[in-house]
Amino acid sequence: MKVVIIGAGATGMAAAYDLSANGHLPIIYESAPFLGGHASTFDIGGAQIERGYHHWFTNDIDIINFVNEIGLGDRIKWFESKVGTLVNGKIYPFGSPIDLLKFSALSIIDRLKLGFATLYIQKKKNYKDFEHITASHWLRKNVGKNGYETFWEPMLRGKFGVKFYEKISMAWIWGKMHTRLASRGSSFSKEKLGYPIGSFSEIFEVLSNKIIQSGGEINLSTSVSKILVDNGKFTGLELAKNNTKTDLQYDACLVTTPSHIFQKLVGNNLTNSYREKLDSIKYMSAVLLILCLDRPLTDKYWLNIADRSIPFVAVIEHTNFINSDLYSGKHIVYLSNYLDSDNYMYNMSHNELLEHYIPHLKKINSDFNSDWIQNSYHHRIDCAQPIIGVNYSKIIPSHKTPVKNLFLANTSQVYPEDRGTNYSVRMGRNLAKMIMETC
Ligand SMILES: Cc1cc2nc3c(=O)[nH]c(=O)nc-3n(C[C@H](O)[C@H](O)[C@H](O)COP(=O)(O)OP(=O)(O)OC[C@H]3O[C@@H](n4cnc5c(N)ncnc54)[C@H](O)[C@@H]3O)c2cc1C
Repeated sequence: MKVVIIGAGATGMAAAYDLSANGHLPIIYESAPFLGGHASTFDIGGAQIERGYHHWFTNDIDIINFVNEIGLGDRIKWFESKVGTLVNGKIYPFGSPIDLLKFSALSIIDRLKLGFATLYIQKKKNYKDFEHITASHWLRKNVGKNGYETFWEPMLRGKFGVKFYEKISMAWIWGKMHTRLASRGSSFSKEKLGYPIGSFSEIFEVLSNKIIQSGGEINLSTSVSKILVDNGKFTGLELAKNNTKTDLQYDACLVTTPSHIFQKLVGNNLTNSYREKLDSIKYMSAVLLILCLDRPLTDKYWLNIADRSIPFVAVIEHTNFINSDLYSGKHIVYLSNYLDSDNYMYNMSHNELLEHYIPHLKKINSDFNSDWIQNSYHHRIDCAQPIIGVNYSKIIPSHKTPVKNLFLANTSQVYPEDRGTNYSVRMGRNLAKMIMETC
């Protein structure tokens, strides 16, 4: 079978790998000049690093098994995570139940309420009990005003912005907590996070070589502009370059783009109910400012910012996770925000964002001086996070679309877990199987 795949991210590459390993011919079209989509990397002075910070949990078994299978298992390393939260100018460690008990930004009663609510969510086996309730309503009621406003609200606001944070379903929190707590083993053991040393670029390069060696094709910098449909059946593609039609006869097409792009590509060839589902899916963009410093900013890998005077929501200090020796001694810090496209910071240039953020770094480390910055980078990643509202399961489009031999697999279909490379790999492999069984 010749199977065309739109997108060379984790989903498309995993699907292509399995199709080629089973004697089929995947042909990938990717609009970017590089592999990896949301998990793609860039050069940070001689080493590759992700445009947006990435790590794995110990229960991300689909991607761990996959990386082992392609021969890169020995590149996965595990390190203790160092998590903190900044409240009222102070950094509190926040990686274990003991840290919660010592979290003096809240009264002991409020700490206990936070702890009991966590245990309650952990005990709930089915996310469906939480589907119809917003996280802000449930958490406000169960952890109290102080616990909500000090801990949960900054996290929700940070991930979904002022416009959406009060609309997020409690099932999203359930999904986040269940995957994270399951990764920890026992509640009292320290959390470990994994990372492929050498970055995700090694994984995508190895996959690319294997796909091409088996006869598959990967076309970078090649944007698809139209999916052609005849009589309710997928027939081919049009490429953006000169509106050229691809002349190959394909047996099936797997689209891994965000839902609204898919809808634009396929035009009015979908049923109303399927189109309505695609229309309901909205996303946040991630905006990352990456600093290379000559020394550490903090001693934390992941610092949640629960201070609304600071214009970014998390500080992820990659080199407090992976040794800075791998980056010629540079200390690499992501200043992270999730924004919608009307937000003023989404539209800021690299220099504007740098000037806007720098004064706030002193609130994180009072010794900070802008002379510490050796270099900086700016990345805007669209459709980074699907917005998971109440009763989300009802709007998830099926992988099999109403068009025969046309399939959709993107991050909006990962639920109740939150999107991640583990789930993209799992979805890509499941889709390859579905295509092999049905086309
Ligand atoms: C800031 C950030 C941090 C993250 N952190 C983690 C983490 O710590 N751990 C983790 O596991 N996951 C993390 N993720 C999530 C993970 O990166 C994604 O879930 C995963 O990479 C999505 O893969 P995908 O293939 O489904 O989609 P994408 O990676 O979005 O791939 C889709 C591809 O389609 C291409 N495309 C779009 N339109 C067209 C077109 N018309 N023609 C051709 N090609 C097209 C795009 O260029 C893209 O490459 C993070 C994501 C972000 C943004």
